[in-house]
Amino acid sequence: MLSKSDLQSYLQCRRKLWLERHRPELAAPDDPSSRRREADGNLVGEIARQQLGARIIWPPALDNQIDAAEGARSQLADSPDLSAVEAPMFHAGLYARADALVRRPGGYVLRETKASSFPLKPDKVRPNAPKPHHLDDIAIQAWVMRESGLPMVGAELNLLDSRWRYPGGGDYSGLFRQYDVADKIADRCAAVPAWLQAAEGVVAGAIPDAQTGKHCADPHDCTFKAYCLSLDPPAEDHPVELLPDTAGKALAKRLREANGYTSILQPAPDELVGAQAPLFQRIQSAHRSGQAVLLPAAATIMDGLPYPRYFFDFEGIDLAVPRWVGVRPYEQIPFQWSCHIERALGVFDHAEFLDLSGEDPSVPCIERMRAVIDPDDGGPILVYFANYERGRLEEIAERHPAYAALVQKYVARLVDLLPIVRDNFYHPAMRGSFSIKKVLPVVAPDLNYAELEGVQEGTGAQIAYLEAAFDSKVTDARRAEIDQQLRSYCRQDTWAMVEIAHFLAAGNRPERPAGM
Ligand code: SF4
Repeated sequence: MLSKSDLQSYLQCRRKLWLERHRPELAAPDDPSSRRREADGNLVGEIARQQLGARIIWPPALDNQIDAAEGARSQLADSPDLSAVEAPMFHAGLYARADALVRRPGGYVLRETKASSFPLKPDKVRPNAPKPHHLDDIAIQAWVMRESGLPMVGAELNLLDSRWRYPGGGDYSGLFRQYDVADKIADRCAAVPAWLQAAEGVVAGAIPDAQTGKHCADPHDCTFKAYCLSLDPPAEDHPVELLPDTAGKALAKRLREANGYTSILQPAPDELVGAQAPLFQRIQSAHRSGQAVLLPAAATIMDGLPYPRYFFDFEGIDLAVPRWVGVRPYEQIPFQWSCHIERALGVFDHAEFLDLSGEDPSVPCIERMRAVIDPDDGGPILVYFANYERGRLEEIAERHPAYAALVQKYVARLVDLLPIVRDNFYHPAMRGSFSIKKVLPVVAPDLNYAELEGVQEGTGAQIAYLEAAFDSKVTDARRAEIDQQLRSYCRQDTWAMVEIAHFLAAGNRPERPAGM
């Protein structure tokens, strides 16, 4: 017997299905991102079930899936006016569990709930196309449902409405927006028998040939990546795909297909074309020489920044199901920030904010900013990837208009270190990436995130926040431990920016304050 999940694995990668069936012990343990996704999915699923009311059928999950499906059919037949949730279905060796069968005249609407936002076009109004793997998912269920004789009168995705704001009082009636996909899944439904037959062949056969690639993260990060990488042929030391961004990847594809280049060392510099040609050529030059490239323009830009300089970083939480009034699904709400203040060259203060109360941290956050960052001293607020900090500030202003003028002043003073790095620096160890986690090791090798206790990256910070703020079982001692871990992590992020700024200015290191 195969399940819907098996077929989804097959559609992503034949080897993934085979490994899940025959060598599950090779999977990596759950990472923080997958644990967060799972927690979001569970909560969203719970609210979706609640919205169907108390009078629903909820068939038991039995070890024997055929018995479970038969039992569900009997319950549906016994109560023909009720909707059902988590309904087991089975046909021709394929098992699926429907999130909801919503009772309508003449049958049921098959409803699949996802902890994903309703897709919108850039105008944020017109619906965009649903994700292909969501359509695969519901098509597999629709096929099992129809073939097993359950009357289906529609199929829809139940998605989070990202335009809706939580009104408070536990009212989640507007959280979901349904996407009618009945007319979008016909071809996929017709393909299910072929998928099923092919997947059965994979499970019965030897481990399929496969190499790692983009499909390993599309639509889901594959947990067998480490194992498969160990089987891949030796990787090119300087693959042409190190060229960054969409334009770099497109150019790499063209160079590989048209010229047979596999290495970034191979093209002549004038073959690295396009609006980002100087960047691509600098990257190539660094890989050819094995040496970092730092352009003098970086120092000119940094020297032009006045004091005090505020090195600033937010940590935010994006709840699929908002808890605070006025907040949208997955809206990032800052619960923490760190700020290293350089009063004069090499003279530092540090200030921070962290709210683990579980209440909306927005107003305390901006109030503490006002106390620390003089609204009128004109000092640059240095960040790394300004879109994030700008976005959070503007959203605070939108939800709390009393702070709009203050936010406007701060936003106008944001200075993004990322484009300065990108336009002026590259080291071969950055492997085509300008993320702070790639830049820092070549600028300050002793500032190692892996040595931080507990919280070492952004998703880990979110998980720590969720535990400290909302887990009713968390002890005071554990909350205090998380508090310290989050502070250390965020402080390191802003000190990393200080290191990068000093490196860009003079190519040397600032003296680290005590406690860093
Ligand atoms: S890591 Fe990639 S190649 Fe390996 S099983 Fe997963 S998806 Fe397939």
